[in-house]
Formats: sequence, C-alpha cells, structure tokens
Amino acid sequence: MIVANASIGLDLGGTTYSVGWLDEMGQLRDLVSLETRSYRPPAEIVADLAQAIKATAQRAQLAGYRIMAAGIGVPAVINPWAGEVLLPPNFAQGWHGLALAEQLQALTGIPTRLINDARAFTLAESRLGAGKGYAHLLGVTVGTGVGGGLILNGQLYLGRWGSAGEFGHQVYDPHGLICGCGGVGCIEAYASGPAIVAAAVRPLRQGRVPILREVIGNSLDRLSPKAVAQAALAGEEECREIYRQAGRALGLGISNVLSVLGLEAVVIGGGVAEAGDLLLEPIWETLRRHQFMIAEHLHELNILRAELDEPGVVGAAMWAAEQTLVGL
Ligand SMILES: [Zn+2]
Repeated sequence: MIVANASIGLDLGGTTYSVGWLDEMGQLRDLVSLETRSYRPPAEIVADLAQAIKATAQRAQLAGYRIMAAGIGVPAVINPWAGEVLLPPNFAQGWHGLALAEQLQALTGIPTRLINDARAFTLAESRLGAGKGYAHLLGVTVGTGVGGGLILNGQLYLGRWGSAGEFGHQVYDPHGLICGCGGVGCIEAYASGPAIVAAAVRPLRQGRVPILREVIGNSLDRLSPKAVAQAALAGEEECREIYRQAGRALGLGISNVLSVLGLEAVVIGGGVAEAGDLLLEPIWETLRRHQFMIAEHLHELNILRAELDEPGVVGAAMWAAEQTLVGL
C-alpha cells in the first residue's frame, strides 16, 4: 500500500556517489554509497546511476512510498533549468553539455532534476540542519573545492543562469595562486583541502615542521588537511598559520557577501571545516577587522557548523521534490 510520496537524492562525487530517499518526515532512508570510477566514459557512469536510482525507488516502494522525483547533486557548474552539466572538474572528458537529467529520466522513468552539490548542501542545512529558521543564509562547503549557496527570503537563490552562490570563486588575491577554475587568486585556491595540503608540502620538504612530519609518519601520501590540523593542534605553528590563511580567505569572502546581502547566518560544512576553531577563529578575526557596513550587527551573525550527515543527498532530494511540486 502506498502511504506517501517521496523523492530520491543522489550526491555525485568524483570518488563515490551516495543515493537514498527522503520520506515525508525529512528522514533519509536506505542510503547506499558506491564507487563512481569517474575515469570511465560518461555513458557507463550514467547507466550505473540510473541503476542505483531504480534500486532505490524499489526499496522506497517496498516501504510503501511512491517516488515522484529524483535530484542529482553534481560537483560542477550546471544549468539546473536545462538539466545540463557545464563545467565538471574531477571527471573525464565528455561531460561538458551532457544532458544528465534527461538521460537519467529516460533510463529510470522518474522525473529528474540537477542541482550543484554546494547548493544542495545549503538547501538541506537551511531546511533541516544548522540553518533551520534563518531566512537569509549563506552555505559554504570547504572540501576538495570551496562551494557555496544562498538562501534569500527563505528560498534558494540561483540567479539568472542558475549558477549563483559560487562563493569559492570570489577573488581573494588578484595576483595570487592559480585556481582550478582557471582564474587567479580565488578563495578556493587558499582554503580548499588541496590548497591546505599544497601549502604544507613546502615547509615539509624544507624540514621546518617536525610535528607534522611525525603526524604523517614521514609519508607524503598521508598528508591531508586533517593531518595539518592535527599538527596545528599539537603546537605546529606553521600548520596553524596555514589554517589562518585559509580562514582569512574565507572570512573576507563572507565579509563581502555580508556587505552585499545582509545575511543572518553562515553554515560551514565539508571535510576541511572539521578543523573547527582553527578555521573559525581567523574567520571571525577577519570579519571584525574588515566588516564595517554591518559592524553593529556582527554580534548577531551566526556562523554555524553543518549538522546533517548527508546534506548533499538530502538537498538533492528536496530540490527534486520542490521543483516537481510533489508537496513533500
Ligand atoms: Zn576559481
């Protein structure tokens, strides 16, 4: 017996993808994670995704739910209206212009919508997570890249081209490091996981960070943002400075967005954000130093750590439900 409508969320990553379905209480169910093997031709990956979506729909049906839509969170610039992938880093050739939503819909028979993964994160955290109750909010994900999303007047704001919210590609230093997007000096080039690792390689090679060397057991393969954070907390000043630099870049970006949009909350998630105060302290310091337009409201600003376990999957499912108006 069918008891309610539900939607599927799929979070597509370069290494793995996760898929589950969201019930009417906002509970994510039957979550499965599988390997993407992103070096394969897109058609093979799309076929796998379709299979996973169909299997998830069957599980939901067994629980008495009817799947009305599927949302795919993609780590790329996308056109959410056309359902096309435009600029996917970390994937092999053949993804540019791929009509992913249409292809999946044809294979599964389920109405399918795309959303950028950081926008999915923002949507989920604003509805069910740390950002619940805030009408004006910025979501920031700090991981392999630095993503973002905007909730304005309670709604996800995507702008004219469906791409608004690219927090990580604001310019932090116009004469600075090259960014993965092709630009120069983006926040992402200073605050992402790869940026933190890259910044740690030089002092490691120069033999200036003995605590970090010990943390990684003298093996560069084990160098990660987490290892740099561990060393910083154990007293490695240079590692602390790497996080300060990342925090300053994020803080300036947040300050700029605040000046323009007057937000009340920022939700920060992603693997690098697990460094907690190592990142949050320089963010606050930067805000206090550079934020004058809303200086008198700064004490009301909430900078919050993300709360949900799988915001990418949840947000993609919510987006699909909202876009196809199933009234979840
Ligand atoms: Zn960039």
